[in-house]
Amino acid sequence: MAAACEFEAEVLAAAMESRWPEGAEPQLREHVSTCGVCSEAALVACTIGGDRDTLRPAGAIPDSGRVWYLAQLRARREAIAAADRPITIVQTMALACATGLLGACFGATSGWFQATVERLTALVASHALLAAGTVVLVLLLPVAIYVAIQQEGTGTISGGRRPAG
Ligand SMILES: [Zn+2]
Repeated sequence: MAAACEFEAEVLAAAMESRWPEGAEPQLREHVSTCGVCSEAALVACTIGGDRDTLRPAGAIPDSGRVWYLAQLRARREAIAAADRPITIVQTMALACATGLLGACFGATSGWFQATVERLTALVASHALLAAGTVVLVLLLPVAIYVAIQQEGTGTISGGRRPAG
């Protein structure tokens, strides 16, 4: 690292205050023309200062009242969302509990429902192979339809051409 020069701080101050080289003392300018450390410091400081002056108008700072208003809106929205989350969870759990309770009461008290369930169970037990086939069909039919729609979308079925001859 190059040795520091005693005038480096003065050169930097002049450059940062935008008075380099015209506004600086003649002795300082003469020193900088002979000192490598100070000439580098002046070059770097002037470059950074020029960039700062160039970029300052580009960054439009919004009105402080608008920033405050938008921050208040955002804080309110986040508070409402944070308060709504547990309420939604509790409502969902209450609905699930009520549905389960209603179903249990209906199943325990309805005679025709119990008889229907017993008949269905006996029917499924006596026709196990048919029931299994129906279940497989019900599960596979949506998949087959989905695959057919996908292939139609890419044009492999509807856009297919017959070979000539
Ligand atoms: Zn120097």
